[in-house]
Amino acid sequence: MFNNLTDKLDKALHVLKGHGSITEVNVAETLKEVRRALLDADVNFKIAKEFTNTVKEKALGQNVLTSLQPGQLMVKLVKDELTELMGGETAGLNLSGSPAVILMSGLQGSGKTTFSGKLANFLKTKKSKKPLLVACDIYRPAAINQLHVVGDQIGVEVYSEPENKNPVDIAQKAIAYAKQNGFNVVIVDTAGRLAIDEAMMTEIANVHGAINPQETLFVVDAMTGQDAVNTAKAFNDRLNFDGVVLTKLDGDTRGGAAISIKSVVDKPIKFIGTGEKMEAIDVFHPARMADRILG
Ligand code: GDP
Repeated sequence: MFNNLTDKLDKALHVLKGHGSITEVNVAETLKEVRRALLDADVNFKIAKEFTNTVKEKALGQNVLTSLQPGQLMVKLVKDELTELMGGETAGLNLSGSPAVILMSGLQGSGKTTFSGKLANFLKTKKSKKPLLVACDIYRPAAINQLHVVGDQIGVEVYSEPENKNPVDIAQKAIAYAKQNGFNVVIVDTAGRLAIDEAMMTEIANVHGAINPQETLFVVDAMTGQDAVNTAKAFNDRLNFDGVVLTKLDGDTRGGAAISIKSVVDKPIKFIGTGEKMEAIDVFHPARMADRILG
C-alpha cells in the first residue's frame, strides 16, 4: 500500500540517511522531494506546502545541520510531523449514551453497510457490547437485505421496516426498540447516493437532528483521493461529524486522503477498513500510518 509515496519519500530521505553532515541546501532539496511525493499521493497542495515548511523550520530550529546524525533526525521529524498531520493520537468512540447511538454517513459504495457490520462485530467481540444494527435506506431494498446478511453473519440483530419510507421514524423506533430490549449500542446505517445531493443531505441531517447521536461517523473510500477530501468537507459542513472511517486501505490506494482529511475538516480518522471481511477493521493509529507511508 502507498507504494508511490513510500518509494518517493524513501528515495528523498535516503539522500540524508547516513550523511555525516548536510547543508541547508540538502534539507531544502530533500523537502522539495517530500513535497512532490505528497502531491503525487493526492495530498492537497496547501497542506503539503505547510507540511514541508513546518518540517524545515523544525529541522533548522533543532540544529539538524550540526547534529551527529542529521539524516535520522530528519526522518524522525518528517514522521512526527506526518503523524501530527493525521491527528497525533488515536481517537476513541464516545459510547456514553444508553443506548449509545452511532450514525453512519457517506456516499453509496463508500463501504457504510460493510463497516456498520464490522463495527457491530468489533463492539460485540472486543468491547462486550450488545449492538443493534438499523437499516435506514428507504430507496434500495437490496441495501436492507445486505445489512440482514451482515447481521446474520456476525450474530447481531438488525432492525428494519421495509414498508416504512420515513428514515427519521425508523431510526427513532429502532432506538425505542433498543431501549426496551437491552441493546446498549445502536448503529444506524443510512442511505447514500452516488454523488452529494441536496435531498440526501437534508434526509441525513433530519435523521441526525432527530436522534442526536453520540457519534456521527463519515465513511469514505480511501481510493477516491482528492474527492474524498471534498466529500468529507460537504458532509462535515452539514453534519459536523465526529470522526472519519477510511475504507479500502487494502487496495492499491494512495495515502493522500488520510493525510488531507484531518487537516481540511479537523476531525479525527477513527477507524480503517482493510478488506471485505467482517474482521477487516482496525482502530486508526496516526503514528503507524505515518510509518507505513514512509516505509
Ligand atoms: P455502502 O453503499 O456505503 O453501504 O457500501 P458497501 O458496504 O455496500 O460497500 C461497497 C463495496 O465495497 C462492497 O463490495 C464491499 O464489499 C466493498 N468494501 C467495503 N469496505 C471495504 C474494504 O475495507 N476493503 C475492500 N477491499 N472492499 C470493501
